Amino acid sequence: MLVASCGGASPPPAAPAAPETLEARYRAPVDRVAAASREADFAWRWLEALCGGIGHRLSGSESLERAVTWAEGELSTIDGARVELQPVEVERWVRGEESLVLLGEPDEPLAMIGLGNSAGTGETPVEADVVVVGSLEELAARGDEVRGKVVLFDAAMPAYDPESMSTGYGDLVGLRIGGPAAAGAAGAVAVLLRSITADPDSPPHTGMTRYEEGGPRIPAAAITIPDAERLHRMIDDGQTVRVRLAMGARLEGTATSHNVIAELEGSERPGEVVVFGGHIDSWDVGQGCHDDGAGVVSAMAALRLIGELGLRPRRTVRVVLWTNEENGLAGARAYAAEHGASARHVAGVESDIGAAPVIALSVEHPDEARGPAALARLEEITRLLAPLGVTRAVDGHSGADLSPLRELGMPGVGMVHDPAHYFDLHHTAADTIDAVDRDAFLQGVAAMTATVYILADMETPLGE
Ligand SMILES: [Zn+2]
Repeated sequence: MLVASCGGASPPPAAPAAPETLEARYRAPVDRVAAASREADFAWRWLEALCGGIGHRLSGSESLERAVTWAEGELSTIDGARVELQPVEVERWVRGEESLVLLGEPDEPLAMIGLGNSAGTGETPVEADVVVVGSLEELAARGDEVRGKVVLFDAAMPAYDPESMSTGYGDLVGLRIGGPAAAGAAGAVAVLLRSITADPDSPPHTGMTRYEEGGPRIPAAAITIPDAERLHRMIDDGQTVRVRLAMGARLEGTATSHNVIAELEGSERPGEVVVFGGHIDSWDVGQGCHDDGAGVVSAMAALRLIGELGLRPRRTVRVVLWTNEENGLAGARAYAAEHGASARHVAGVESDIGAAPVIALSVEHPDEARGPAALARLEEITRLLAPLGVTRAVDGHSGADLSPLRELGMPGVGMVHDPAHYFDLHHTAADTIDAVDRDAFLQGVAAMTATVYILADMETPLGE
């Protein structure tokens, strides 16, 4: 009997088909993605155009908007892609001229870089003795001692731990963000920060600082590890360390920037979206290539490869190149406010840890009860990615730009690029395309393409 006939005796019920495993469904497409990514010369040329051609992209700058226009143009060449720019108001912070001198006989200029969003020193440089502290707790304990002084925060970043994939950045970044506000509140006149890196050869690292509403806004700059250690030693030896800090930093109102958004519509569930990307802005030094040109271009390339390989996942895949991640997160907030509720965001993926090979995927589910299921599913996906060298799935940070969407319930997935040397380059003049390995970058393209495709196509969304 080939077909059960109407009205005849019912055939015995068929045993339910075992659910198709991710391995069975996605092994062949992942292999195709891997092969195509290795040959994705267009992606490398995009990275060269963005980083080498346009260069760094500070919020409010012309170069950032050149990058926006460039990305919009390239994404528009992808067959079937719908592309839009979302206007976002961003603060325009300008660095200006800046210098730091260790006063003595003779005076000695020190390498420095002002922290992002720092106040400047105005017409008159700050000249004061230096007090060294190791933490915000120690600052509080020193009380009045820091009044009228320059506070040097000298806290060392630990060596990278490959087992936990921990860089120590998360423990130290609070000093950069909150240290100047706290030191100002305690009466200090300026802050010097030991750069947040474990690499003593690294140039000074900038990064965002934040003042309290209505609180004092004292200028703040980072210095190198060797200089921080030397000033610290001199003070321990009982010497008076006096510096002159001049910073032309200032806020110049606001400017209109843009999130770049591009999508390929899902074949079966177009109202369900996997959003993925990186941030198109950068600090105003180097070329913003590890941070985050590589993430931006990986996402653009993933959309193009999904289209070119004819993968057409069930859900919509949407690239967002967020603006203003570094000094405001205005792009991520604007995206969530305008688009967060208009489609069901089933997962978000961000690449914002450089351009070294991807070694793991991290997941952050806002609903704790669903975290274990999301992690288990991500482990299955990493088994598919294992030939690429992506071998671990972990609970962990997924991406700053995903945070407003996570607050709306969306699970976030982070592409964990090997972080061993990321903080040697991050937010420095050394973050250029010369510091990117082409094969490693293309491995990241493959990992992002495959991850996004699987998340957008698999039957049950992540964590469900
Ligand atoms: Zn970044």
